[in-house]
Amino acid sequence: MKKIIVQKYGGTSVANPQCIKNVARRVVATQKKGYNVVVVVSALGDTTDKLIELAKQITDTPSEREHDMLVSTGEQVSVALLAMAIHKLGYEAISFTGAQVGIITDTSFSKARLINVDGKKIKQHLAKGRIVIVAGFQGMTKNQEIATLGRGGSNLTAVALSKALGGCMCEMNTDVEGVFTADPRIVPKAQKIDYLSYDEMLEMSSLGSQVLQPRSVIFAKKFNVPIHVRSSFSKAAGTIILKEAKAMWEGVMISGVTLEKKEAKMTICDVPDKPGIAAKIFKILADAQINVDMIIQNISRTRRTDISFTVPKAELQKSLKTARDIVKKIKAEQVTFDENIAKVSIVGVGMKSHPGVAAKMFEVMADKKINIEMISTSEISISCVIAKKKAESVVKALHTAFGLDKKK
Ligand code: ASP
Ligand code: MG
Repeated sequence: MKKIIVQKYGGTSVANPQCIKNVARRVVATQKKGYNVVVVVSALGDTTDKLIELAKQITDTPSEREHDMLVSTGEQVSVALLAMAIHKLGYEAISFTGAQVGIITDTSFSKARLINVDGKKIKQHLAKGRIVIVAGFQGMTKNQEIATLGRGGSNLTAVALSKALGGCMCEMNTDVEGVFTADPRIVPKAQKIDYLSYDEMLEMSSLGSQVLQPRSVIFAKKFNVPIHVRSSFSKAAGTIILKEAKAMWEGVMISGVTLEKKEAKMTICDVPDKPGIAAKIFKILADAQINVDMIIQNISRTRRTDISFTVPKAELQKSLKTARDIVKKIKAEQVTFDENIAKVSIVGVGMKSHPGVAAKMFEVMADKKINIEMISTSEISISCVIAKKKAESVVKALHTAFGLDKKK
């Protein structure tokens, strides 16, 4: 049997009939190169947002089952139109919903988890020379209910099908040329990255570079599915994401610089420094469903200390209220907060084998007379919280300092 490739096209790639015809031509061209092609499509443009909005006009609390019944329709429109566009070009294609090809999920509507994905039916149609088109973002529970996989879930459909079809290449066709060393709107010299490891991609997406739904990257990592992020409007190669390889480290200290402006910093001042206090604070925040990101605690000289952490700006009011309750409960002094911060991060597997990466990052900040308010690190990333107004110039300076301006 010919090699299989899974191609996913996102909402902007199928936004209108013109775009759908463009996708049809790309898919046919891929088949002509000798591949068996499986296509996963998202809903047209911002259809999913519009469907959610429509439901809101009926009720604020739609039943979860009916919510999924509604939003899954967007993808059903895309698959049928794409099949028609391919027919029009004189080629064979057949479209399916997630349920029809055996994508089985659990019952957690709107964020369903995959239980089983079956490639048998798809292979039968491929064997007959057909292009198989599958609706992204959706599956079916064991009780035949339609369930969706979370926003951006067509990515997960595509990766899961690649795995079910034997671990073939999963091409994510989107509106950018690949993953970049920084946001090109901030750093005009940003370069397209040729190769990234799954872990780097995950760090980049959690640190503010949303190219792929993180769940799909976690799935791809677990089953070793290679991903190729590329533009559906050009023929150029994009970014290939795969298992970490030694070659990725050589010569490259870091792979990218990211910027996250959606967090605010809060500090609980004068906290008693004794066992159990941090547990208490963060348990109360967790119970209030607040997503805490970075945390720092100062040393105490007086048996009292300050604890700072970051929360999503969208949750700032709720967090403040919760933190004020905490202050009373643990007999701390007060809560302060700062909305005008940003988190600047550098990411790269290369830092595992290159000493001095953190020092270099801090020197760039020092040269620009920037005060670092918080620092956190992982094996392959270093993040600093700084004043928001300086963030973009720091991103540029780090990009230059780590040699990312020039293509190697
Ligand atoms: N249409 C869905 C969404 O907008 C799924 C996707 O695009 O991947 O979230
Ligand atoms: Mg979409």
